[in-house]
Amino acid sequence: MYSYANKRIKIDEESPRIRTGDFGEILHSYTPEQAILEAKRCNQCLIPFCAEACPIAQDARGYVGLISEGKFDEAAQMILQANPLATSLCKSCYHYCETACIRGNRALPVAIRHLKRSALEYGRSDLSYAPQAPLHLKIAVIGGGPAGIMAAWELGIRGYTVTVFEQDELLGGQMGAIPRYRLDGSELDTDVARLRNLDVTFLRGQKSGVDFTPETLLQDGYEAVYVAIGTSAHRDLKVPGEELPGVYPALEFLKDTNRGLNVPVGKRVVVIGGGDVAMDAARTAKRLTQGGEVIVAYRRSREEMPAEKEEVHETETEEVPFLFLHAPLRIIGKGHVEGIVMQKLKLGPPDASGRRAPVPIPGSEVTIACDAVISSVGQIPDLAGFSKKFDFTVGSQGAPEGKGTGFATGVEGVFASGGKSIVFAMAAASRAAEQIDLYVSQKHGLSPHPRPDPFGGPQPVPRPSGFEGASWHF
Ligand SMILES: Cc1cc2nc3c(=O)[nH]c(=O)nc-3n(C[C@H](O)[C@H](O)[C@H](O)COP(=O)(O)OP(=O)(O)OC[C@H]3O[C@@H](n4cnc5c(N)ncnc54)[C@H](O)[C@@H]3O)c2cc1C
Repeated sequence: MYSYANKRIKIDEESPRIRTGDFGEILHSYTPEQAILEAKRCNQCLIPFCAEACPIAQDARGYVGLISEGKFDEAAQMILQANPLATSLCKSCYHYCETACIRGNRALPVAIRHLKRSALEYGRSDLSYAPQAPLHLKIAVIGGGPAGIMAAWELGIRGYTVTVFEQDELLGGQMGAIPRYRLDGSELDTDVARLRNLDVTFLRGQKSGVDFTPETLLQDGYEAVYVAIGTSAHRDLKVPGEELPGVYPALEFLKDTNRGLNVPVGKRVVVIGGGDVAMDAARTAKRLTQGGEVIVAYRRSREEMPAEKEEVHETETEEVPFLFLHAPLRIIGKGHVEGIVMQKLKLGPPDASGRRAPVPIPGSEVTIACDAVISSVGQIPDLAGFSKKFDFTVGSQGAPEGKGTGFATGVEGVFASGGKSIVFAMAAASRAAEQIDLYVSQKHGLSPHPRPDPFGGPQPVPRPSGFEGASWHF
């Protein structure tokens, strides 16, 4: 093996001082030569642990191997054969593949996500998917986030006529909240453009429960309905003063900032929460304050923080400090946020989540002066407009799911799922789409349609050799 196999080729990035001045992308692409060198670090393991760790079983070993030979076109095609959101994911995926990469045992894992970007940038990636013969069977998808788009792709390439109903004017769901320093906003358009030859229609500004319901869609001749509504509502802090101007729910704050709306935050911002969304909110606020102060307050300690380590590190690198073991009591101000009163906590015995529960320390209130508070204590599904008959469950992925096989709900012909990250949402959608295909095929006395080569090739795309099964479970 190569002598440099244990040393990752450095990914160029903007310095913290420069990057917090604007929303420019932080990470820069490898050159083709750098990409080839980095790809040569891949061990080409007999068992592709990277693919097994990927919720959509993307053949990372395969495309990294092609890049190592300078075959960028072939690598891009291989990536897009399993991944219709690859241009978005090459910059935003939580890269479960890298966590499984055995190079990571001794050094940094192969930079698989960044190599995916190289393949798409240097290989031919302006391809378009080709459907199988039209089935003349209509399927409705509610929600145009990653799960909805993945289901539309899965069913579209099989020859179904798919209509996606999205309540918002923009597609992408929560992806639309990912800050511009990570996704510049063009990636999703590039991904969706590859679906142009499929019989897939995206209808925006169409809300289930207002403009239609899954039941009316079934009455209108749709064979099945896939509900992929994710978690578009925010969880309240439930403290006095939350209604004051200057208090923003993180999802809304991030989406509005990405849309170029004026979101006034002043010079001192407190972000409440310890997840990835809180990190994005804090880093976005840092840029908006233009040299102001942003702190993240979290009610447990660093060890319990749910945010990815990489995200926490980047946040600290941008000089955003953390205030651990503090919870908000009330937000104060006359007509606008002027401060937040926090209570100190200590860790007690574990709670139902297995993590040590924070316990208030009486008389330990502190007041932090600030101009804005961003609340990021979680998102929940907005189930208004969906009757109890669906019998949704909200599982570990956060989104409403059907409890039956392949996420079938309590209403025949209606399926529901979503995911805790983009690629998990896509995997959940694939599983539901497979079940929808089976359900509709059986209804019409047809054989189910296994996923074809999405580029119209004669054979389905095989799993990578040595693939023993997914190493994760819903
Ligand atoms: C700030 C932020 C940063 C993130 N960063 C990353 C990241 O870097 N990497 C990563 O992998 N994941 C990230 N995530 C998580 C990821 O975006 C989500 O897990 C993923 O988008 C979930 O996909 P989904 O399709 O299940 O749901 P959603 O993305 O929530 O999409 C659901 C869609 O349904 C629509 N909808 C809801 N109700 C209705 C209705 N009644 N009628 C019609 N349409 C409806 C919504 O408008 C939305 O477009 C991030 C999330 C946030 C908020």
